[in-house]
Amino acid sequence: MNLELSAEQTAVRQLAKDFVDREITPYAAAWDRAEQVDRGIVKKLGDLGFLGLTVPEEYGGSGGDHLSYVLVTEELGRGDSSVRGIVSVSLGLVAKTLASWGDDRQKREWLPRLTSGEAVGCFGLTEPGTGSDAGNLTTRAVREDGGTYVIDGAKTFITNGTWADVVLLFARTGDAPGHKGISAFLVPTDTPGLQRREIHGKLGLRGQATAELVLDGVRVPAAAMLGPEGKGFSVAMSALAKGRMSVAAGCVGIAQAALDAAVGYAGQREQFGKPIARHQLVQELISDIAVDVDAARLLTWRVADLIERGEPFVTAASQAKLFASEAAVRAANNALQVFGGYGYIDEYPVGKLLRDARVMTLYEGTSQIQKLVIGRALTGVSAF
Ligand code: FAD
Repeated sequence: MNLELSAEQTAVRQLAKDFVDREITPYAAAWDRAEQVDRGIVKKLGDLGFLGLTVPEEYGGSGGDHLSYVLVTEELGRGDSSVRGIVSVSLGLVAKTLASWGDDRQKREWLPRLTSGEAVGCFGLTEPGTGSDAGNLTTRAVREDGGTYVIDGAKTFITNGTWADVVLLFARTGDAPGHKGISAFLVPTDTPGLQRREIHGKLGLRGQATAELVLDGVRVPAAAMLGPEGKGFSVAMSALAKGRMSVAAGCVGIAQAALDAAVGYAGQREQFGKPIARHQLVQELISDIAVDVDAARLLTWRVADLIERGEPFVTAASQAKLFASEAAVRAANNALQVFGGYGYIDEYPVGKLLRDARVMTLYEGTSQIQKLVIGRALTGVSAF
């Protein structure tokens, strides 16, 4: 693994840095308070090609390698995790999965719109009764004569849910137990019978639209199925494996933002007649954050490298997501400590970093689930 970035990777990282500093960071606190990111950000992300990274150019994508995707995601996470999540889901979980599993017609129908930002995607796996145990989901798609599927069920915690034009939806199509009976569908969100309700009161990621979806007799043609019948769980797990790299990259961004804020504040806040940066225990807080940033970044870059080289990456992605998400929480918490009482007030950025970081150990597989994935790979024994 070469840690020196290529000219293209350096350029795309700089492009993302400039964009975040100009278009995201100045507005992130206001979006957080308003509980809504400015929707115009989606078009801007699309115009820069950030919604099409790694997607083939023939389908409207902007190409590029997985490390470039990680670099951009890291920068977006540094600016605002709500915006980063829009990209991680619409591109990372939906467009990239569609590019891998879709047929030519499905790719032509959705990818140019998703990668340009004209359309937004969401990922509908979690249900009220099945989170970690997603293989036991109960939403059902019944095939009628003529090939139409009729879908009934409910999904919850769906990122981009009320913004999305298409949901990559997982439903049970057969009587096979557990994950064997699940298939994936591309369901336009304006299909009759699909209702969406935004979930308010989140601890963090407040700028992001998180929603419940209720499906009551939603009819889709057989051509809406993504991948083979009964392979939906494999579709979901392949999406989440790469998605975990994306979450990890976003966590690196949070930790980097925590480090930048802590260093800046420690240099100008004075107590006991000198900048607090000169107190050794404050330096300890800052050095702990710095080590977390670098360790999380290296684990995340390794996943991108493995994917590019066609090597197995699923366990490495769980390791990166586990470490980076826990590191982001620690880093934001340490930064808040550096800020003292001011860190507790939302005029300063570190409280939001901590609130946003907190969900990272929960979604796309909790920390406990990542440990089971890693443990299974090492021991050959499944604890699920
Ligand atoms: P549970 O599965 O009920 O877990 C509760 C606790 O039990 C956790 O600590 C868990 O680690 C532990 N636990 C469960 N099983 C085990 C086990 N076998 N061994 C040890 N411990 C265990 N889902 C989507 O499909 N699409 C989205 O876009 C999406 N976005 C989200 C956005 C937000 C803001 C949030 C909060 C969630 C989102 N989710 C999404 C759902 C998320 O992936 C789930 O919340 C997550 O998978 C955990 O499921 P759960 O909340 O039902 O917790």
